Amino acid sequence: MCTVGRLCIIPTPIGNLEDITLRAVRMLSEADLILAEDTRTTAFLLKHLGLDHKKLLSHHKYNEHSAVESLAARMAAGEMVGLVSDAGTPGISDPGFLLVRACIAAGVEVECLPGPVALIPALLQSGFPCDRFCFEGFLPQKKGRAKRLAALVDEERTMIFYESPYRVVKCLEQMAEVFGPRREVSVSRELTKKFEQTVRGPIAEVLAHFASHEPRGEFVITVHGKKEGDEQ
Ligand code: SAM
Repeated sequence: MCTVGRLCIIPTPIGNLEDITLRAVRMLSEADLILAEDTRTTAFLLKHLGLDHKKLLSHHKYNEHSAVESLAARMAAGEMVGLVSDAGTPGISDPGFLLVRACIAAGVEVECLPGPVALIPALLQSGFPCDRFCFEGFLPQKKGRAKRLAALVDEERTMIFYESPYRVVKCLEQMAEVFGPRREVSVSRELTKKFEQTVRGPIAEVLAHFASHEPRGEFVITVHGKKEGDEQ
């Protein structure tokens, strides 16, 4: 067991297994316990890294509320706990925030390794300004969706959204209504994977593309911020 208990947030690849950092591998190997969103997904990664002997515990959106305090107590007592999600950086549209908050409240040190996350390559591949941006994560699936989009109508920063392939077309239709069909958008799919693709253009054109090419895989939608003279 580690002498100094702490929480280590460990980003894992969003597709390409080569994207794990050397430090992430070391922290996974040093952790007394690894909290995983889906233990099967993480077991596959650990096997690939030759770490299949590591102790895994399931930590997902359905059990995190009830688990965070006892986990923070374990870390306060000296365990080094690694937190991973199925892909990318835990806490970014994934479980993590509640545990971090509980650790801080319990006086447990929190360390977050830099590493894979889907929003950053999507932002850079859009070619839109990236000096300031806002990450909106997933829009609500039903109630509140239109309201959330409407609140962004005057946003001047580049906006980044996560979306399921089943709602990409619907989402672009709603964005065309709110931001106008000529607003520039960049849709990145399957980042770091074999069929990686980024489609850029006015919302109306990108919408026409995905209306005729069934959206498959994982998607990030990046929308240009409002420019002076833009009309909806
Ligand atoms: N924690 C992750 C991160 O750091 O980006 C995000 C997890 S969230 C549950 C999953 C969403 O992230 C997907 O629906 C998609 O919007 C985005 N995503 C994850 N991997 C991706 C990839 N390889 N290509 C495009 N989008 C991806």
